[in-house]
Amino acid sequence: MIYDIAIIGAGPAGLSAAIYGRRAGLSTICFESNVHGGQIINTPEVENYPALGKVSGVEYASNIYDQAVGFGAVVEYKAVTDVDFSGEIKKVICGDEEYRAKSVIIATGVTRRKLEIPGEDRLLGAGVSYCATCDGLFFKDKTAVVVGGGNTALEDAVYLAGICEKVYIIHRRDTFRGDQHEVEKVLKNEKIQVVYDTIPLSIEGSGKVERLRVKNVKTGEEKDIFTSAVFVAVGLIPQNDMFKGKVELTSDGYIMADESCKTSVEGVFAAGDTRNKTLRQLVTATSDGAVAATAAAAYVRSKE
Ligand code: NAP
Repeated sequence: MIYDIAIIGAGPAGLSAAIYGRRAGLSTICFESNVHGGQIINTPEVENYPALGKVSGVEYASNIYDQAVGFGAVVEYKAVTDVDFSGEIKKVICGDEEYRAKSVIIATGVTRRKLEIPGEDRLLGAGVSYCATCDGLFFKDKTAVVVGGGNTALEDAVYLAGICEKVYIIHRRDTFRGDQHEVEKVLKNEKIQVVYDTIPLSIEGSGKVERLRVKNVKTGEEKDIFTSAVFVAVGLIPQNDMFKGKVELTSDGYIMADESCKTSVEGVFAAGDTRNKTLRQLVTATSDGAVAATAAAAYVRSKE
């Protein structure tokens, strides 16, 4: 069988694409190497998706999955190991199996870079978070630490300062990587204390985050920062190794695709966090899924 649309990744972008693909009357298969839902399943409560009120990340993932399958999308829990976009019929390879499709939507997402320090995994969801906009409100009027020096860390610190009593931002150098405009917002915010030249050593607490052990890289001095939350914002890792040399990527590994979600290869689209964009959120991922599937449908019809 040749599918109209093959989607790689069953997160919000991929499943949204599956819904729109099926509603356009196209045969749609979606591949997922892990559990459906993507990163959102790590969020205890989604409360910034317009009109949804409050819903857990797991519940959101379950709902969007049911919706996609309800419309007739096929979800295969298989790791895609290779792709061949060279012909008009695209090939998606899962180990020994080869699937063929007239169009492909890449929705592989990103993973957050981890600190790889003690306590990080143990206290995930108990004060350790990789998403300030998702989890910040859990720490209303408490102290939070943001680790990182890029735009995400700077924006997270300002966002959290609107919620928390006090915010530390810990950066391993004495100049930020992020935009000057964002740096200025951080520096003039009285609730934010910047701690330069400092790396986190361990996240400590029994059952929930209580302290972050840090070290000044210039003086060697170690100390504890007492905090309820540690927001890790030390970069993103796009899941695009497989597509190197097959579609155009940005220098930092994202798929080159603008708001139309079209990649450098005709018939191949990119949706969600995996493409270059400025706002990586649930709402922009689902929006991309709709745009990509609609573009894929138009492409498939144009070839009939
Ligand atoms: P990023 O720009 O890659 O910054 C990561 C930061 O984490 C850097 O300051 C880096 O330090 C630090 N870091 C890396 N590994 C670390 C470790 N193991 N321990 C401690 N610190 C570590 O990542 P990002 O801030 O997530 O941004 C990703 C991309 O999205 C960037 O291109 C950014 O401009 C963009 N973005 C844009 C917007 C916007 O336009 N509104 C918002 C957010 C993000 P060094 O500086 O020393 O390397």
